[in-house]
Order: sequence, then structure tokens, then C-alpha cells
Amino acid sequence: MKLIFEGHDYKYALEQTVVALFGEKAGAEDGDELVSCLSFGQRYATASARIKYKGREARAFARADIRGADENERTRLCTHALKIAAFKAAREVTGRSYPWGALTGVRPAKLFVRFLDGGMSPSETSRMMEDRYFVSPERVKLAEAAAIFGREVRNSRREGRLSVYIGIPFCPSRCSYCSFVSSEIGRASALVEPYIDALCRELEIKGNTLRELGIQVDTAYIGGGTPTSLSAKQLGRVMDSIARFLPVEGLEEYTVEAGRPDTITEEKLGVIREHGAGRISINPQSMMGKVLELCGRPHTPEDVIEAYEIARRVGFGCINMDTIAGLPGDSPDGFAHTIEEVLRLNPENITVHTLALKRGSDIKSGEASAGNIPAPENVERMLDFAFPALYNKGYNPYYLYRQKYMAASLENTGWAKPGSEGIYNVCIMEEFQTILSFGAGAVTKLVDGARIKRLSNSKYPREYIADREKIEKDNIKLREFLLQISGKI
Ligand code: SF4
Repeated sequence: MKLIFEGHDYKYALEQTVVALFGEKAGAEDGDELVSCLSFGQRYATASARIKYKGREARAFARADIRGADENERTRLCTHALKIAAFKAAREVTGRSYPWGALTGVRPAKLFVRFLDGGMSPSETSRMMEDRYFVSPERVKLAEAAAIFGREVRNSRREGRLSVYIGIPFCPSRCSYCSFVSSEIGRASALVEPYIDALCRELEIKGNTLRELGIQVDTAYIGGGTPTSLSAKQLGRVMDSIARFLPVEGLEEYTVEAGRPDTITEEKLGVIREHGAGRISINPQSMMGKVLELCGRPHTPEDVIEAYEIARRVGFGCINMDTIAGLPGDSPDGFAHTIEEVLRLNPENITVHTLALKRGSDIKSGEASAGNIPAPENVERMLDFAFPALYNKGYNPYYLYRQKYMAASLENTGWAKPGSEGIYNVCIMEEFQTILSFGAGAVTKLVDGARIKRLSNSKYPREYIADREKIEKDNIKLREFLLQISGKI
């Protein structure tokens, strides 16, 4: 969509809004455009938006009282008015409801928490999100639940503790919608042992720093990729190193993302359980065979059930299952079937994602093409089915986030039975605790109040294996940061 600005230069804010309202590719037809204008009177700034989209045209206005506002406040008020005008015009030309209204940020619960911390009550905050951002009551309810649970987790964190993420960037094969940097383990087999060596070395180097400074680990999460694409022996090596090098004696939660059911065996789950992980993720994404096939996932719904039964037999008391609304070839009925099947299995956690098609994904042509992706209104219908079904079975939403290019600009939500929420998920989303990440592509977030500093490891396994120096350098930065926040320097 062509963007034209008159009287202002808030380009970034408007671009974000257009992506949220129309998606990455939509609106690319000739003649589609947004003309965004801002004009000033004595007291008000008036924003207008004129949108032409697929032969339809709409115009909308919004204004902001800028009397007495300083420069920063003025920018905030004007940006908000411009977004609201664009949102109202978009709603008219597309005829869509936009459950998140004009809210474009990726962490709605974080925004909710900010207002609560500012002294507003949950009901005042809810009303403000509906009135000011046009968020639907259902989404406000999600944001409120996630914000309240997130605050509880934040307030229960203790000084001198952090969480850790360990990444295994290998998968048995690539799913068509995936945008992660993950290598097919069959093709990258020569890299696996050197990768584990490098990972164990990083665990030792940074683990020594944590021990020296008396830092403890609250939660640990082994993710990917697909950690269970490693052999049982390789998984054992990684988990031995975690136990040996990291200060995990007081661990509150230990999760392994098994992920793809076609990698799960009793032997591997046995190793994971023996090493103390109590929480595991088994991800069907869909319980529709045809959808799995279109997504390039070579497993069946029956394989999911079998993997789940193995996990219970091995003794896992907390299982998460991921689903995705909006996959190629899926329909509201198909997704309802997926939710019903997963509910029938009765895991402690269910995560309902909405497909986000990023640049790294392979969905380009053939049956699993972007043209075979369900329409936004159908994705909304999928979630409209899932929410009450989950509430009725005793699950509550406890964390959520949005991504760019997400189907229908919706959200990913973690649901859990009370008392089985994944604490790591909340820490990573709400960004109130340092997350120390290990492995290729891992990003460490050093959190100091509202300030967050990021340290990124080399993206690809080959670079990560070769770059010992970077790990050493980042370890020095990590040490300085930990000394600083503990007031020791
Ligand atoms: S299993 Fe997960 S990480 Fe691996 S290719 Fe599929 S979606 Fe991507």
C-alpha cells in the first residue's frame, strides 16, 4: 500500500499500523493507498486518513487535545490520533472487526501492566483499552488475565536470580510455515556433535560466571528447533552440562520443548525426565491429517496421541500442546476438531497460536501456498470457537503476545489449568527478568528495570561453533552487567 504523509512525518507508527490492519502482502493492488494528514489548531491536532483499498474508499478523522503538552506528550498524542484515524478508515474499507482495534504493540499485557502500575484499577484499564484503542471486550479480558498473572509472577521474583534458555537449532525436516533458523538434522548431521561441544562450552563459561557471583537460575527452557531431534545420548549430554555448570539447584521450573511428535521416543523422554525436567511440550499444531501434510509435517494426529501417551507413561505431570489457527488448508470446522481433540487428551497447558507468515517461511506455491491460507474472518472464527471451549474446560489465559504479519492481526495465547502455568513463558514475554540464552541464534536479554540490553549469539550453527571469541567477550559483558545490577561495581 502506498503511504502518503501530509503535515507530519510519523512514518514508522503509520507503517506499523498498516501492517497490523492489512497484513504484509494485502493491499498491494494498484491504486491502494493511505493518505495520512495532520493539522494543528489552537487547542487540537486533527488527524485524517483517506484509504483506497481494492476499489473502495473511506475517510476518517480523530483529534487530540494538545494544549499544554510538552514535546514528548505532543508526539504521543498526535501519533495516537493518526493511528485511530487510519484504523477507523481501514475498518470501513475492509468491513472487518479488528479485535485488537488500533493497538499495534506486540505485548498488550505489558501495556495493561503499565497502567496498573500507574495506579489505575483493572476495570479502569479495561475501559480505557476499549474506549481509547477500540479493543474488543474479549481481547481486553485476555490482556487483563495475562497482565494480572504476569504481575504476580513479577512480584514473586527474587533478587539475584534469572532464567535460562538453551537452543537446539535442528529439526527432522522443515515445516512450510516456519521462519526459524533451524537446520534439517539429516543434512546437518556433521554439525550436531560440534554444536553440542560448543553449547557445553558456553554453558561452562557463563555458568562459572553465575556461580562466582552467586546468581541462581529460576526457570530453564530447552527449545528449538526441536530438541528431541537429538539422540537420547546427545540430549543426555546437553542436560548433564546444564546440571553440572549452571546453578540450577533451586530450579522452579524445567521445560523441554519436544515439539514434533515424530521425534519423540520413550528413551528420549526417559532421559529428559531423569534429568529433572517436569514440563514438556508436544506440539500437534493441527489434528487434521490433511493440514499436517500441507504444512510438511510428516506425522499424523495418531502420532500426537501416541507421543502424549508415552509422555504420561514416563511420568510427565505437566504437558503443553501447541496449536496454530490459520494453517494452509484449515477451516473453522477443522480447527474446532483440533481443539476438541487436544482438550480430550487433557494436557495441563494449551497454546493457541495464530499463523504469522514471516519472510523465512516456505509458503509460496503449490497447495500449501499463501492462497490456501484461511481468510482473516475464518481465523477469527477459529479463535471464537477455541476461547469458550478452553474456558469451559477450566483453562485460563495467562500469557499472550502478538507478532507482525499475523493472520487477522490476532494473537498467541498460553492457556493453563490453574497452578500449571509456564513461568518461563511469562518471564520472556513480559521482560521483567534477565533471560540468559545459550546456543546458535540465542538472544540474551539483560533486564535492568525498564532498560533491556540484548546480546545476540551467532545466528547459524556453523558460525556459532567457530566463534569462541564472541562467547568469551559476551561473558565479560554479562559479568559486568551482573556486577552492576548487584551494586558490586
Ligand atoms: S518443528 Fe518447529 S522449528 Fe522445526 S521446522 Fe517445524 S515449526 Fe520450525
